[in-house]
Amino acid sequence: MSHAKDLKVTRKQLLAKRKEVLEGVSRAREMGSVETESGAPDIADRATSAFQREFSFSLSENEGKMLRLIDEAIARLDNGKFGMCIHCEQPIERQRLQAVPWARHCIACQELQDRGEM
Ligand SMILES: [Zn+2]
Repeated sequence: MSHAKDLKVTRKQLLAKRKEVLEGVSRAREMGSVETESGAPDIADRATSAFQREFSFSLSENEGKMLRLIDEAIARLDNGKFGMCIHCEQPIERQRLQAVPWARHCIACQELQDRGEM
């Protein structure tokens, strides 16, 4: 995973995924504002939609985590550490990176982490 062209493709994948996550968030925001503008004269209703709006404004836990992983992967692309397991510093399997370009661990370390042994 050191080929310059591969890295360029990977960067594109990461940026596309990042956009996808952010667009999902802004879609949720739009839905929130449409709901509010459709008019809820009742104060209780208005309070509810304000609450929903606020809720959809913040990133969900998964989205926030995803964005962080993507940003970290982009940072690793920038500092030349991309494709290296952050735990054992061995190269991450190429196929794994193609499927999950924001992967931080090689498969062996990921399995350890999934089992809670790391
Ligand atoms: Zn590892």
